[in-house]
Amino acid sequence: MKKHIADLENGINIDHIPHGNALFIIQALHLFNSDKQVGVGLNLPSNRLGRKDLLKIAEYYLNDNDKQMISLFAPNATLSVIKDYKVIEKMVLSLPKEINNLVICPNKRCVSKQYKSKFITLTNRKQEIKVKCHYCEQEFLLDNIKQYNI
Ligand SMILES: [Zn+2]
Repeated sequence: MKKHIADLENGINIDHIPHGNALFIIQALHLFNSDKQVGVGLNLPSNRLGRKDLLKIAEYYLNDNDKQMISLFAPNATLSVIKDYKVIEKMVLSLPKEINNLVICPNKRCVSKQYKSKFITLTNRKQEIKVKCHYCEQEFLLDNIKQYNI
């Protein structure tokens, strides 16, 4: 067992997470109650974003669903997969077209209420991320949703 996570032997590194969103990713991946070693950087300086968050997770890899979910909180983040201290894969995440089983629709009259609904993702002119419920077709700003429904 390694004492420091700064140099990952095996695992993933997620960089350029928009400031404040690392905690949503930790929550969504259920890392709090896992036995995984997680290094968290908050409010780090970034040329691109001003401030950014960063996550390092040892002995952990993402499946396609995880990647889709993380992309929602960190579109344009850089995901690096590390094996034996070497980056063996590096990719820039992009906003998924759809999200499933992650967010509960905030519309109290929606038929999908209580379930994690299916949403289409959109961006508006201000580049804010909006999600549109597949069932009730209402649109919500992602920033408004993630506060209380994940
Ligand atoms: Zn709905």
